[in-house]
Amino acid sequence: MAAHPLVHGPRTAVDLLLRDVHVLDPRALIDARHDVRVRGGEVAELGDPGGLAHDPGEELIEGRGQHLLPAFFDPHVHLRVPGQEHKEDLDSGTRAAAAGGYAGVIAMPNTDPVLDSAPLLRSLRETAAREARISVGFMPAITRGLNGEQLSEMAELRHEGAVGFTDDGKPVTSAGMLRKALQYQRLCGGVIALHEEDPTLSRGGSMHEGAVSVALGIGGIPTISESTMVARDAAIAGYEDARVHFQHLSCVASVQAVAEAKAKGFRVSTEASPHHLLLTEEDVRGMDTRMKMNPPLATEQDRQALIEGLRSGTIDCVATDHAPHAREEKEVPFEQAPMGTTGLETAFAALYTGLVLPGVLELALLVERMTAAAALYELPTYTIAPGEPANLTLVDLDAEFVAGERGWESRSENCCFAGRRLRGKVLLTVAGGAVVYRERAFSVVGA
Ligand SMILES: [Zn+2]
Ligand SMILES: [Zn+2]
Repeated sequence: MAAHPLVHGPRTAVDLLLRDVHVLDPRALIDARHDVRVRGGEVAELGDPGGLAHDPGEELIEGRGQHLLPAFFDPHVHLRVPGQEHKEDLDSGTRAAAAGGYAGVIAMPNTDPVLDSAPLLRSLRETAAREARISVGFMPAITRGLNGEQLSEMAELRHEGAVGFTDDGKPVTSAGMLRKALQYQRLCGGVIALHEEDPTLSRGGSMHEGAVSVALGIGGIPTISESTMVARDAAIAGYEDARVHFQHLSCVASVQAVAEAKAKGFRVSTEASPHHLLLTEEDVRGMDTRMKMNPPLATEQDRQALIEGLRSGTIDCVATDHAPHAREEKEVPFEQAPMGTTGLETAFAALYTGLVLPGVLELALLVERMTAAAALYELPTYTIAPGEPANLTLVDLDAEFVAGERGWESRSENCCFAGRRLRGKVLLTVAGGAVVYRERAFSVVGA
């Protein structure tokens, strides 16, 4: 029998009574104040506010004014293990995720060495079973060494617990190679996730090709680098009736290509990142290397298309593409800096502040999109209902903070939202009934 795709470290389930919290779970259709009891790793009971008696032995959390959400799930993070532990590792990466309200993440394979073999997957899962604060799934590479030329042993990797496959960081440039991977997928299952980029168009570019790149004199990456590959691969997926997931969409034309594929009934899904939903090429003017990511931040029109896509469901979920880099790697001239921003610790607050507070998105919709990825990857979805595993995030929507002012849980600090005043603070994260994160100021133990 194949190994379960998610692993986590040792956990001690605690008994909690969250009194008078506003429970918001769009999937369970709950949007009301409740008492919530957590016992033996599960949501044990939901009662009227103030209605559940406090048992001695369970921690009492006075939750009035706070929101209890299903914990978030991120289908796209870089935990840098093995080989780049100076940027992040399983402990620090999952600590950052827990601090952001996540109870599950999926790690990308562009590590050193590349995650492309069953023995390496086995050893990574063993490390995760010792160190990971929350559940981690691994996506091995589609092609060996991300070389785009030879398929990895997909069936063997699936048996060893691979969630799916991706060459993230690189596209699968050969259409024939992608088709072959999709044919193997039919036999072994697992989602194929695609980083879409045509290197013949993106080569030499460090930011979005447009007015700002011209003004700064920096080599640009045209949006067609992404959108033409999305359109091509949607067509291949449709032809093979295969299940593909498009990673980090960044522009109007990609959203349109996905909408068309979905309208045809193709089995495609997509994600968008907080930075693409909130920032544009204008934010690159200061040449801050934390604003350098792949795909690059595009125009306001592109950003609006992503927001509309998230609202309509063309974009299924939010993914941070958390990409830690050491300070000295990012503190170089813009063109030389590696691409990527961290994002796990700021995703919810940044999106709440940037999209929900101004009335652009409903809070319930944001919560749905931050939890939806699990189902896309055929994993159990977190929901707040009696008998369900307790995967919960307690947030204070009124609490304001400056991102990064008290440091980061991540080993890296290359966050594009650093220094911004945000609202919506994660106070507590519960994963499988264990408290995996507790905000420093929020340590009041009731009696
Ligand atoms: Zn990527
Ligand atoms: Zn990535």
